[in-house]
Amino acid sequence: MSLRKSSLYCAANLSAFYGPGALNRATVKGSSLKTSDTEQIRLANRKLVVDYLRVHGPVARVDMGPVLKLSPATVTSITSDLQKEGLLVEVPAPSDNVVSRGRPRVLIDLAVDTQFVIGVKLSINEIRLMLGNQKGSIVKTEVIELQTLALSREGLTEALCSALRMFIAKLPVSQKPKAVGLAVQGVVNGHQGEVVWSPALADKHIELKAPMQHELNVPVLVANDANCLAMAVRQQPKYQQLTDFAVVMLGYGVGMGMVVRGELYAGHHGAAAEFGHTKYSPDGAQCLCGKRGCIEAYVGDYALYRDAAAVVRLPQDDHLHPNEDRMMELVELADRNDAAVLDLFERAGRVLGYGVANYIALMSPETIVFSGPGIRAYRHLEAGIRQGLSSALVSELICETSLEAVPWDDDMTGLGVIALALQEVD
Ligand SMILES: [Zn+2]
Repeated sequence: MSLRKSSLYCAANLSAFYGPGALNRATVKGSSLKTSDTEQIRLANRKLVVDYLRVHGPVARVDMGPVLKLSPATVTSITSDLQKEGLLVEVPAPSDNVVSRGRPRVLIDLAVDTQFVIGVKLSINEIRLMLGNQKGSIVKTEVIELQTLALSREGLTEALCSALRMFIAKLPVSQKPKAVGLAVQGVVNGHQGEVVWSPALADKHIELKAPMQHELNVPVLVANDANCLAMAVRQQPKYQQLTDFAVVMLGYGVGMGMVVRGELYAGHHGAAAEFGHTKYSPDGAQCLCGKRGCIEAYVGDYALYRDAAAVVRLPQDDHLHPNEDRMMELVELADRNDAAVLDLFERAGRVLGYGVANYIALMSPETIVFSGPGIRAYRHLEAGIRQGLSSALVSELICETSLEAVPWDDDMTGLGVIALALQEVD
């Protein structure tokens, strides 16, 4: 494991898992303890505390230890250090949260304005910059429209750095970012900080991490947008206790973020999980990746719109780049029971069901979450998904896995990449 991989994904691992294995994992790593091992465990436990506060705060110290499986002395030591560094504050508990003698409990919470990071979402013809505070909330957003497909690799780096410099220049000194996280549509090598291929870009194999770090003089991480979405879902209290689940990101393309044993799983080469480019039908529909028969070639926005344009009258736009309005028009046609469009959504659902069946058969997850902009059509996809799933997999393997839809908004990817960037500085 490279140092880079360790710093990004180890943090994600530890922050994403608060079950009984969290401390055990840290302890096993340090089973032949040296001073450096002890320090690693202390830092790992500190990350656990910070991340727990980020999702659940404000909380009482006494309530945090049992959940994180940390001793009261460890929690006190870590929170005292954080308080001295100005990263943590004490806040009074709400009036209904008092001990029996009527003395108000003191809760602890992350200080909001002590550390800031910037999340950048790069998608087709858009750069979205978001300032995130210590608690992982987005406090400022700026959107820049530009023709991303016309950018050279050098032009892309310059466009991103220029946008970031202008964004940072408008911030007060106290909000200068300590890290930048970049979420990109497409195949990303997170370890190398390289965009391998993206529908938003004409060039392939564009290394962004090193040149952007050099230009901006802050740590930069590059992540696939579906992995960022999985992190955002993982930050929601409902999903935070899950240890094995996948988030299917529906939208222009189809992506997946995998959480395996509490860890955001990027694979050996850092490019997992390209669920959308696994195959549904050899030699089937044309996919943007250049191959045929990928799941995305039936489910991605461009595929749905392309296939719908062949059977119903649609505006004569660029069928390969339908915008949100165009996709909503498709959903509205389905809402009005247009048989041809309903068939397309049902087929897309079935294709997803087959893909998800493969994932369930291989990984046996607790939950499959669907989200992303394409969730707009979930009510028309769901029956197909369940049909595909039940025809592809024996019921004994399906019944343990739940399917859920999580509402989408434009901030989801940003919240996820901000969460990853904060873990760079925690
Ligand atoms: Zn493909």
